[in-house]
Amino acid sequence: MNNKDVMFGGLLLNKTVKFMAISGTEMVETARELHSLSRVCTAALGRLLLAVSMMSARLKSETDSITVTFAGGGPAGNLTAVGHTGGIVKGCVTNPELELPLNEAGKLDVRGAVGTAGEMRVIRDLSLKEPYIGRCALVSGEIADDFANYFLMSEQQPSLVYLGVRVEPVSGKVRSAAGLMLAPLPNCPDEDITRLEQIASEISLLSKHIDEGEDLRGALTKLFSDMELEITDELSPEYRCDCSRERLERVIISLGERELTDIIESDGKAELVCSFCQKKYVFTEDELRALLLEAQTREEPLDE
Ligand SMILES: [Zn+2]
Repeated sequence: MNNKDVMFGGLLLNKTVKFMAISGTEMVETARELHSLSRVCTAALGRLLLAVSMMSARLKSETDSITVTFAGGGPAGNLTAVGHTGGIVKGCVTNPELELPLNEAGKLDVRGAVGTAGEMRVIRDLSLKEPYIGRCALVSGEIADDFANYFLMSEQQPSLVYLGVRVEPVSGKVRSAAGLMLAPLPNCPDEDITRLEQIASEISLLSKHIDEGEDLRGALTKLFSDMELEITDELSPEYRCDCSRERLERVIISLGERELTDIIESDGKAELVCSFCQKKYVFTEDELRALLLEAQTREEPLDE
């Protein structure tokens, strides 16, 4: 891997367009290794991780999160990614090893894997009382266009979204992963929006340029050479899971007295595997009994 993951935020065209751009090769390769992703699932989940990383970059608090689920009804099942501030992400897919033949264009068939029959759901949990939940029917299944449609329909924000993951044809190893989101601000003149549309095909070569060894800053400088490029943020996005034993203890307690008693009597222990990082947590009978005690004391007030 020739490029370390990096993300830039900034402005274009006399500050009338904001953008976020990411080079996330290591991030997507980490996901591939953790979940033994097939090539098509590497592309699908990889695109989702890139998008959620960019969306989460500017979250204000450490406890804020954005969760995006694609439930498209395709053979890969559901894809989910969770992002935290700074572009830290984790993700999973129901059927990570699903492989499909290349599509008619000779590309990984992300649409075929994701499906187009369902919807995408976006949960913005901004440490307020109620998380904001947005949902939108899928229009493409290729993920980038679905995000653009979601931003327009749910947030009234027109945008241009590019997400690209290139993998080794045989091993499936990630060669490059890059993404770009452009959003014109309300004061952006129409002719500038036209200029952005005109370089859309150039933008779609971003992951190719990264694959060829160019760094993201260099690629952006070239891409936006005559568009008053201004980089305002530099971040270090990565794939990182925030699971912990304490968090899983709360999950076990939430199972309730009856189910927990059942587990203790039938298995005498519990093994939980984190769906985002595959880390295994083992709880012995004694530990489960202690959690059972907590579940019991927690349930009492409800019975009164
Ligand atoms: Zn985990």
